[in-house]
Amino acid sequence: MKNSNLQVEVFKGKEASVNSYIFNNTKSIVVMDVLRNSKEALELAKYIKSKGLPLTHILITHGHPDHYIGMDCLKREFPEAQIVVSIPEVKQDIIGFSKWMESIGWLDNEPNLKPKSEENPTGFDYENQIEALDNTSLTLEGGGTLELSNDYNPAEAEHLTTVYSKDLNALFTSDFCYNGVHLWLGQGVDATHIAHWKAQLETFKARYQDTDLMIYPGHGASSDVQLFDVVLKYISDFEATVANETTKEDALTKMKELYPDWEQSDFLLAYSVDYHFSLKANE
Ligand SMILES: [Zn+2]
Repeated sequence: MKNSNLQVEVFKGKEASVNSYIFNNTKSIVVMDVLRNSKEALELAKYIKSKGLPLTHILITHGHPDHYIGMDCLKREFPEAQIVVSIPEVKQDIIGFSKWMESIGWLDNEPNLKPKSEENPTGFDYENQIEALDNTSLTLEGGGTLELSNDYNPAEAEHLTTVYSKDLNALFTSDFCYNGVHLWLGQGVDATHIAHWKAQLETFKARYQDTDLMIYPGHGASSDVQLFDVVLKYISDFEATVANETTKEDALTKMKELYPDWEQSDFLLAYSVDYHFSLKANE
């Protein structure tokens, strides 16, 4: 069988150091995850437009805002593109997160993402704008298939989609992997979620350890299969730090010492330490 001309490019977001992935087969484009704010999403849209090809799908891997806030901007720039998720649960996670963000004022900077309602008829119509695919794959117009998996226990998020491409010999792990960026171990990522996360990384490792598969994480640089060990070690270091340090400040200092070059210590790490010290206080 002839290989498709499928290629992938990474568009690196600044806020949250989150990645957007652009799949291009020289006939059409699919973009996976679309950044934490509309301003950066507009830069992403401009970049995609520079390719001169139709954008057919905006694939969102999970219901965290750093992966979906840009979708309103992308949809405005590419009205023909369909916003898709792999399963209805991801759509519900997105809606739940946006309702919560609106309730605490976090969408005041992104008013277009406030959910459409009777009080807010011009808000974002999550129900009708996001389509849950029935398929376990997404085939690009003109060839090349992205294999979608979502059969995972709740870990970094309640529901996560990963993408495998045989043509690219690559696994897009979404937020099962971070590389050089502090992991989100904040709100919701409790001991059970962490146990699932580690178990899934061990599963990936066992499945792919003797391959030359490329690993593309949700945040940070691409890598080979050794990245699973890097993430496992980070989680163990984080757990030990929370257990051993007396104060949040000490834990933050310790993690920064262990990972001096990793990005997002003020945001992702700070929230993660905060959350786990609140769990510790309630033990
Ligand atoms: Zn993320």
